Amino acid sequence: METPQQNRCGEHCSIIETAAKILSEYPLCDRCLGRVFAKKGIELSNEERGRAIKTLLAMKLYTDYTSEIIDAEYIGKIASNTGDPVTRLYRKITGREIFANPCHICLHRVSSDYIDEIARRVAVKLSELNASSFIIGVKLDSEVVKKELDVHVLTGLESSESLKNELKREIGKRVTQLTNIPPDFDKPDVVVIVDVNKDFDYSIQTQVNPILLKAIYFKRGRRISHVPWFTSNGSRKYPESIQDFIRDSIASLFDARDIKIHAAGREDVDARMLGSGRPLVIEVKEPGFRNVDLDLLNYILDDQFIKVSVIGAATRRDIESIKEGSRKRRKIYRVTVLTEKPVSEGDLEKLSSFFKERSVKQRTPMRILRRKKDRERIKRVHRIEVISVSSRVFEALIYCDGGLYVKELVHCDNGRTTPCFSEILGTPAYPLELDVLYVEKA
Ligand SMILES: [Zn+2]
Repeated sequence: METPQQNRCGEHCSIIETAAKILSEYPLCDRCLGRVFAKKGIELSNEERGRAIKTLLAMKLYTDYTSEIIDAEYIGKIASNTGDPVTRLYRKITGREIFANPCHICLHRVSSDYIDEIARRVAVKLSELNASSFIIGVKLDSEVVKKELDVHVLTGLESSESLKNELKREIGKRVTQLTNIPPDFDKPDVVVIVDVNKDFDYSIQTQVNPILLKAIYFKRGRRISHVPWFTSNGSRKYPESIQDFIRDSIASLFDARDIKIHAAGREDVDARMLGSGRPLVIEVKEPGFRNVDLDLLNYILDDQFIKVSVIGAATRRDIESIKEGSRKRRKIYRVTVLTEKPVSEGDLEKLSSFFKERSVKQRTPMRILRRKKDRERIKRVHRIEVISVSSRVFEALIYCDGGLYVKELVHCDNGRTTPCFSEILGTPAYPLELDVLYVEKA
């Protein structure tokens, strides 16, 4: 049975024995040796840990040498892979000079100065980008990773830390000391990638994460598209788009490279978007400034024909959810209808009592057949409310499923939509003006 004393020695002795085994095969600097035993002992840097192990090893080698368990030649072999203090011991014993080999993993390049230099460069980049948070990623040459694995498999991997991890942590810590910019592991403003090659030269790349803003837009005018719409000869089909309006208004405030919008569906170009407005996420790409006042944004994003109300920050998930749900959201439309023959109050009553929870079959409208596949779908009109304007003009409020083609519901699209207004009224009906009044929230 082991005595308690032997037990206590067990752990320490095994660290030194393992270190001796590793150092008889591979030259390692203090830091790279310390990383092998990273999980042993807390509040020590890998460099301190490696240095302590080398010191204990030097003491053990000297004891074994004086007890004639090992000879000077063995110490010499370990010394050239260990460096100081074992090289000092060897010199003292033999009177001969011995030099340390470069570290098997980092070639003795990774030092506090090395980490400091990288951190200083990262700090400059972050301040140029006005970042308020960051995250560090490290790419290590695969040859270096393989060399590290050679060493770590000798000990079992559970007690060691990777160089990549140490660099990430130490550079990050130093950058925060230098700049006061905190790391953010979930939503950093800037992702910094330090790319290290096999000679330990490095380059720094930054990726500026976009700002995402939750908003609602209102289209008070017609002939306004969502994104710029170009004809085949490259000219603009419509003078204005929501995306252009937002970009032209606020890109310079953010010093952004570009601005894109993600909306919950879209209305026809000639339809207005009134009432509740339509949900939207604004993506500000590569912003140079990130803190722009919401009130200022909302003040600027309000003109005669388009108004965008910015509510606050959005996430990627918000983009997915507004896109996913857009077809399912119920809508309320207002449409002005012109009929070929006069229609009476009685005809209009008949129309509104017919369209109560009524399923409508629609083939893809002729007007978009060039862009979309011809298929049939069934949407529901929940109810309509009708007001006569003149004998041949009336206004209808249509409460329906998202995705219903409203113009076709009025004019039938050559029988491709059924039932429809023309059919029920017994005279051709044409939509004159269309507005979206309400889009159901997610
Ligand atoms: Zn090293």
